[in-house]
Amino acid sequence: MIQDIQYIKTKANLIRHIYIEDMEKYLLSFDQKVTQRGIVTEWVENEEDLSTIIQQSFLKKSFNKICFDSSVIPSFFTEKNQLFKIISVEEAISSSDNIEHLVIEANFGIVQNGSIVLLNKLSKSCFNHVDNLHIILKINNLVLRNNDLELLLYLFQYQNDAYQFPTDIKIITAPLSKVSTNSTYFEDQSYKVDPINTYLYLYDDGISKILESPILRESLFCINCGRCQQVCPVYKQTKRFSPINLVTNNCFEENQRTMQLFENTTLCGNCNDVCPVLIPLTDLMLTEMQTIKNKHSREKNIDLFKFYSKRSKMNKLNNRFFKYFFNKKHFKNNKRLYNYIHQQKLPFFNIENLQSKAKNE
Ligand code: SF4
Repeated sequence: MIQDIQYIKTKANLIRHIYIEDMEKYLLSFDQKVTQRGIVTEWVENEEDLSTIIQQSFLKKSFNKICFDSSVIPSFFTEKNQLFKIISVEEAISSSDNIEHLVIEANFGIVQNGSIVLLNKLSKSCFNHVDNLHIILKINNLVLRNNDLELLLYLFQYQNDAYQFPTDIKIITAPLSKVSTNSTYFEDQSYKVDPINTYLYLYDDGISKILESPILRESLFCINCGRCQQVCPVYKQTKRFSPINLVTNNCFEENQRTMQLFENTTLCGNCNDVCPVLIPLTDLMLTEMQTIKNKHSREKNIDLFKFYSKRSKMNKLNNRFFKYFFNKKHFKNNKRLYNYIHQQKLPFFNIENLQSKAKNE
């Protein structure tokens, strides 16, 4: 079983590697296929562009009803404005009123046939009363073939200590349509349909910048399964950066960036162990820290050795006595994390190490 899952993970890593290495070429091919099928595609660089482009489709001068079923919400839409009225996904589902705009984030695109894949999206149940469907797809979230997608889907969902194939899958291959509000049923039971304006935004959001970095490029293999966030002891306390967000968030100045990395990881390695596409997250963090250190070796005296040794010690942290002194030494200035470690009854680090768990079974 362990060998099987390791084999699948290695294959998934290869699938991601092949796409990311030639991302530009495959994206163009995907764009052509989606456009041929009648879906309007736009290349969107950042949040600002995204908000402008969504606003361009507003037909009214005020209170355009809009719903976001997406982790990406441009900050323009988080502040009050007469131009729009935000409704939650729950409201959208329970209401029978028309929703003028639904913004939804897709999980994958398939280059082979230009399909767009949505997983576990509650808002799909209100497609029948939406006028404009805005689909956001991050440009690293594509796969080449249907078969590749099948393998990644197997690794996408982890529940009750096992990988599970998602059951809620919606594949979009053409602009959607809905039953017309003035619908008349014809004798053959068919009915009139209205088109839903379907837009696809190929969203960069700093991804092409990461692509240029030989250190961080591997982070683009991410399939957004959320497992690294679930097992991160720092995220559990701070709710600030999941391990993958910490790696890809490089919008800070270099010295701020170093502090950001140091303050938001214990380098415990839990994220490495659970990542289904084998992204070596802590190694990426350390390499980035080391690179910044080498660049500024005179001004900054960052002793990375301490962090390496901290990590390996933490991985053996089953001894309560050791844990007490270790915690005092390394986390005394971080109250939240200090208290959290202090309260842990079970071995703190690698508690969810999938491989060792599976080995004991
Ligand atoms: S980096 Fe995190 S969210 Fe991305 S695939 Fe790996 S475990 Fe999942």
